[in-house]
Amino acid sequence: MPPLELTLAILKPHVIKNPHSLASIRKLILSSHFKVVQSKRFTFNDEIAKRFYNEHKDKFFYNRLITFMTSGPSDLYVLARENAIQEWRNLMGPTKAYKAQYDDPETIRGQFGLSDTRNATHGSDSAQSAAKEIGLLFPDFDIIKWHDNEEYYFRSNSLIFCCFDFVHKINYK
Ligand code: GDP
Repeated sequence: MPPLELTLAILKPHVIKNPHSLASIRKLILSSHFKVVQSKRFTFNDEIAKRFYNEHKDKFFYNRLITFMTSGPSDLYVLARENAIQEWRNLMGPTKAYKAQYDDPETIRGQFGLSDTRNATHGSDSAQSAAKEIGLLFPDFDIIKWHDNEEYYFRSNSLIFCCFDFVHKINYK
């Protein structure tokens, strides 16, 4: 099996508030062959949201983006797959919800995006951003150690899926 890549996925607050959207997106993640390496529910505070979206600080939509991201809990996942970064972005669809609904209605943003701000999900856009974003939001998770010690089990699918925590654990047996 080819090497696995890691990406950071966020299900944004309006998804967590709607059990149907949450369940449907989780189902899509699993049916698209992503493994969930880390998983947590997390409410962004102002400081973390601003650090996370620092590159957008001069954009017209920055304030509404920070207000939205701090408005309630999000789900954060570290996802593993071959070519995970691009595959997750393909599954999410275009950034702009209305474009997604028109051009790619089957994507996550096409189905669950409510507006350009409330566009359902986030995904890292490069290996460098994935490392930075995972480092910020999962400070105890060591990407290098994961590749060295755990990737093998994920590649060989020696895993148990914990439904309740929405995470894959290694089956060392
Ligand atoms: P992404 O990588 O596809 O999430 O897109 P960006 O990194 O360009 O933007 C980060 C986030 O800012 C997006 O996911 C949206 O929530 C928000 N955003 C981006 N462009 C716009 C816009 O034109 N209007 C509004 N209201 N929000 C935007």
